[in-house]
Amino acid sequence: MSSVINSTESEEYEALLQFLYMAPVGLVQISSDGTIIMLNPLSAQLLMPLSQDGELTNLFDALAPVAPDLQLQCSQFAASYGQICDATRLYLHADDAANGPQVLSLSMLKLDEERLMAVLNDITLQDRRERQLRKTDAWLNAIMTNIADYALVSLDKQGRIESWNESIARVTGHAPGVKGQPYAIFYPAGATTQEQQMERLREADENGWTLHEGARLRADGHEFWGSSMISPLPARIEENAEPCELSDEEPAYCMIIRDISDKRDVSENLRKAAYCDHLTGLSNRRAFFEAADLELLRRNNALRPLSLIMLDADHFKAINDQYGHPAGDAVLCHLAATMKSVCRQIDILARIGGEEFAVILPSVNLADVMAVAERLRKQVQLIPAMYEQHVIAYTISIGVAVMDDSVSGFDALMKRADQALYAAKRAGRNRVVCLDAEAAHFPAQQTGVGHEW
Ligand code: GH3
Ligand code: MG
Ligand code: MG
Repeated sequence: MSSVINSTESEEYEALLQFLYMAPVGLVQISSDGTIIMLNPLSAQLLMPLSQDGELTNLFDALAPVAPDLQLQCSQFAASYGQICDATRLYLHADDAANGPQVLSLSMLKLDEERLMAVLNDITLQDRRERQLRKTDAWLNAIMTNIADYALVSLDKQGRIESWNESIARVTGHAPGVKGQPYAIFYPAGATTQEQQMERLREADENGWTLHEGARLRADGHEFWGSSMISPLPARIEENAEPCELSDEEPAYCMIIRDISDKRDVSENLRKAAYCDHLTGLSNRRAFFEAADLELLRRNNALRPLSLIMLDADHFKAINDQYGHPAGDAVLCHLAATMKSVCRQIDILARIGGEEFAVILPSVNLADVMAVAERLRKQVQLIPAMYEQHVIAYTISIGVAVMDDSVSGFDALMKRADQALYAAKRAGRNRVVCLDAEAAHFPAQQTGVGHEW
């Protein structure tokens, strides 16, 4: 008798295991303290990004960064069994701006006093679509309330302009003669490729629409900030499920272009206020440290060199004293302009204090950063600032540091550059100093010896 029961039990157990293995959701059975008793392959896969060291032993610990109250919520659930939470959304990698967060939905069930079951679903796509829809809703509302400034164009399946409304002339300046041309004519040269255009049409096919913001081009060559939405025409979906059945000339998509320069100006001004130094227009401290974090991340991915320049105007107080504070401000602007003229576009130039500046130079090694620093020092000495009738000659001292294995992080790199700057001041100002060991043979750390950049 007992062997029969055992055999049935083991069959049931087998069936349960099979179910867990095949289940299209993540299932994790845990004890009341969060210790994982059992988890199916899908849940292991979903939870792996949360595990610190590749180990998954306690569910509460693993979910702590995204659901810090979960353990408390479970322990406070008074009933002896039942649903503790239903489809709570957990946002993983919320800082991944490019791809958006990975989103899990979590439901917790209390099975009995000792055991809990977590049910996990990957709802990243669903969440993304919901957000896109909210965005489109807001966008369409904006169109409806401001209907005068959009252009409506229909495109054939290759993305060529098939027809247009009159507002196309108003928004883009184009005449009816554009029929048959690719919709890239609304984009500045080099802003889009043919593959990208086709990719957007495919995206529209897949999601029902696609929305992009960016520089757009008027027929007269003038650029404006526009947003364009492309969506497949409804008739095409209903009557012609297979896109390739359409002839080349038939309208396949509708494209709406809006001039949103005003909106862009507002957000651009806000961005500037938050990230730009108001006097010089360079990055401010906040932008500088954010950029540094990003650069360090990039550098870790691909081991490229990274250099840092810190500089400080010499005897700046004396300039203020002699010519007045506004003249001092003009000198700071002059210094910022000189830095821009010497550095590359990808370098990050910032004003990090009163008369103290810094530059992050990605992919620049010691020899090259010394050359840039020396060129900057020379340039400042060579071309004085002007304020009203005064020619104001001034100099700068520069400290240089290069990221290598001995530098633990950006703070340490800053400290090194700062020490070098201090050494430059102590040694008499108007010079470049690098305290890195290999820099010893670089005469550029002394005034007057330059390398061409
Ligand atoms: P050192 O060569 O040792 O750097 O001497 P310094 O006079 O440049 O340095 P110190 O730190 O003694 O003085 C810095 C001066 O910079 C004092 C401060 O009034 C001035 N300063 C700071 N911020 C601004 C600014 O935004 N505009 C102007 N005009 N002056 C500023
Ligand atoms: Mg100074
Ligand atoms: Mg200073």
